[in-house]
Order: sequence, then structure tokens, then C-alpha cells
Amino acid sequence: MAEASVEDNFNGVAVTPWQVTGAVDYDKLIAEFGTAPLTPALVERVERLTGRKAHHFLRRGIFFSHRDLDQILNAYEAGERFYLYTGRGPSSEALHLGHLIPFIFTKYLQDAFKVPLVIQLTDDEKFLFSKHDATLHPLDAYIQLGRENAKDIIACGFDAEKTFLFADSNYIGSLYPNVVRIQRAVSFNQVRGIFGFQLSDNIGKIAFPAVQAAPAFSSSFPHLFGGDAQVPCLIPCAVDQDPYFRMTRDVAPRLGYRKPALIHSKFFPPLQGAEGKMSASDPNSAIFLSDSPAQIRKKVNKYAFSGGRDTVEEHRLYGGDCSRDIAYQYLTFFMEDDERLEEIRQAYASGRMLSGEIKAELVQCLQPMLAELQAKRQAVTESDLNRFMQPRPMSIS
Ligand code: ATP
Ligand code: MG
Repeated sequence: MAEASVEDNFNGVAVTPWQVTGAVDYDKLIAEFGTAPLTPALVERVERLTGRKAHHFLRRGIFFSHRDLDQILNAYEAGERFYLYTGRGPSSEALHLGHLIPFIFTKYLQDAFKVPLVIQLTDDEKFLFSKHDATLHPLDAYIQLGRENAKDIIACGFDAEKTFLFADSNYIGSLYPNVVRIQRAVSFNQVRGIFGFQLSDNIGKIAFPAVQAAPAFSSSFPHLFGGDAQVPCLIPCAVDQDPYFRMTRDVAPRLGYRKPALIHSKFFPPLQGAEGKMSASDPNSAIFLSDSPAQIRKKVNKYAFSGGRDTVEEHRLYGGDCSRDIAYQYLTFFMEDDERLEEIRQAYASGRMLSGEIKAELVQCLQPMLAELQAKRQAVTESDLNRFMQPRPMSIS
């Protein structure tokens, strides 16, 4: 848990749970964080075990790194079941496309492996780490955002029979025994090394990592696992969350628990270009789940960084740069059809397709996708929400 492995602050590149800046070199990040690359052989193994084609996030390297995924697959192959754990820090009214990536992928994993899923809403974290005045942004506001975000999450299509959604502010009682065990096992020096806390930080921040760690241990969910403390856990998340789970994996053996496995995604880039990540606090960088078809078109046309040439003549001659073109980059996340994506790549890179045309492709891809999510979200009732958030037994076969 070396300090240097958390924040790599050279050339303006930083990857922490609170900040992602610069052009991230993902191979370098694997080496620095000490994770393993997600190899084609592992992807093939996932296909074999699930009997279905791997999700395009796997095929295209959007999920690119892991810790002990092979062990989860070994256990699964031997007939043992695992559970999935992911989460959301409720900071904005609606989720944006970047927030959606882990949820889309987690739904695929849940369907493919037919396993239970727990989703943590860290309303406590967003309150504790907020830079705003606590009277203007009180805890209640974050609790309410958590409920709003929960509807977006449910709209992703999770199986109500196999999904438990919980907010820390409400479920903390059941997590608390494991939170306390973790807190007993980690020193202030360690969390300061991992997260860069300052002496002047509020004490809630310093204690919080234990709250994000606890759901990685199955005994935190007695209603799901009947007190079994050894159900393996797989955590899909963006790679900036890895420091939390490095800490979790470090304490696990000392508490007599299994280390959770992880599968990490790259960041969904902001409209302005391939550096950093799409962020809710810069609305012009982000497309939100609540955006209308007209807003989607306007944001893409106005803000999406183009890898095209300055003039049509030059573009026809030299072609566009897909590695820098945001419309193309976003299509790699959301256009499922491999052949169509490859046609677009060739057309754009050769100059046959113009910048305005590839943007139109993206708009046509995003508009129906978001319209469908909005319709599903509209259909989520308070009673659906309460059902997902009710601690209850689940079939785990
Ligand atoms: P804000 O700008 O208000 O800080 P945000 O959009 O950066 O909001 P956070 O609430 O800080 O969102 O994000 C919480 C977590 O969601 C991040 O730590 C990261 O794991 C994930 N996440 C956020 N944005 C992206 C993104 N663009 N791509 C992938 N993951 C993301
Ligand atoms: Mg942020």
C-alpha cells in the first residue's frame, strides 16, 4: 500500500477516487496499482463458463484490468456461487454516461452468471466529502439524491429477485459489525497513505473507507447469505475505486475473510476530449440520463471534440483521427454492432465519413438508448424502489 501507487501526479496525470486528470496510460496504471491485465484468454474463459458472447466492454478492452478474476472463475467452475458488489456516490440528480458504465456491465455479469448483486449508495460519503457548506447541502439532500439515483440504477434492468440496493444512511446498522472490525485493523497512517487525508479533515472522512469496504464481505448481508462469511465477492468498478479495495483486500485475511476480486473499467471521457473523465460538475462535459433528444444532439454537435481535419478537402485527403475523436470513442462504448463500428472506423479514418456525419451516428445511437432508459425510469415507482431496498432473502442458486 505504497503512497506513490495511489497518486501518479506527473505530467498532470492523476487517478484518485476524487480526481482523474490528464491522458491516463492504462498499461502504466496496471503496473503502478499492481493489478493484472484482463487478457483475451480470460475473456474467452468468461465466454465458455457463461455460454454467451462476452460483453463488448470486455471484447473492446473497456474493462481492462482485474484482481483475482481467475479465482472467481475457478470457484464458479467448481460450482461455488459468488456475489457482485458495486455502488454509486449520489452527487448529481441524474447519472451521466460515465456513471452508467459499471451498471451496464454489472447487469451483464448478473445475467450471465445468474448471481446476486448488492449496490451501495454512499450518501454518507458524498455528505462527508462535500466541499459545500453543510447547512446549504445537508445530509438529507444526499439521501434524497440517493433515492433519485436509485431509480436510474433500477432502470438499467437489474433483476429484482437478485438485487439488493441499500443506502449507507439507512443500512449502516447491518454493516456496522464489519465496519468496526475493519476500522480496528487499519491505522490512520495507512488510510492517510492510501487516500491522502489531512489532519484537518473531518473524522468522518477518515473512518469512511471502512464503510465502502464492508459490503465486500458476505457477512454484511445476513438476510442474503444466512451468515455465511465466505461467499466470494466480485466488484466491477472504474479503476479509480481500486484504492478502497486494495485496503479491503489487505485487511481481509486478518479478519478471516476472503479477499474480494475486482474488475476495473477505463474512464468514460468528457465531451471535450480524451483526457480526464466525464464529470457531473461540468455539465458541458457530460451527457446526463435525463437529457432530451435535442440536448443530446446539441451537446454532441457543439462540444464533442473532433478528430477530423480543419477543412473538408484535408479530411478527404488524410482522414480523421479515431483515437482522438470523441464521437468515435463514445461509439466504442455504446454501439454494440462490431461490424457497423468497424465500417464507421474505416470510413472516418479514410476520410470518406466527415466529422458531422460521425457525430450524427453517435446522436442516432444515444437518442434511442437514453429514451429507453428514461421510459424505464419513469416506470419505476416508490414501491419498486422500496422493494429493491428491502433487506430480504434471495434465491442464490
Ligand atoms: P462530480 O463532478 O460532481 O465530482 P462525477 O461525475 O465526477 O461528479 P463522482 O460522483 O465523483 O462523479 O463519481 C463517483 C465515481 O463514479 C467515480 O469515482 C468513478 O468511479 C465513477 N465515475 C464517475 N465519472 C466517471 C466516468 N466518466 N467514467 C467512469 N467512471 C466514472
Ligand atoms: Mg468527481
